[in-house]
Amino acid sequence: MGEPTRALVPAPAPNAAVQPPCAQCHEIKQKRYAAVRQGDRRRAEAMATAMGRHQRAAH
Ligand SMILES: [Zn+2]
Repeated sequence: MGEPTRALVPAPAPNAAVQPPCAQCHEIKQKRYAAVRQGDRRRAEAMATAMGRHQRAAH
């Protein structure tokens, strides 16, 4: 509503660029990345959950 449509700019996740430098966020991200690289989807999902919980608790 009233917002200009910018079809040429694929917007990334809204908070991806605004994420504060948080050590724990970074750690969880690294762990999730490692899990993804190793093909460990369960662990990756667990890390995603941990990230969500951490963000709610600490941010
Ligand atoms: Zn954090």
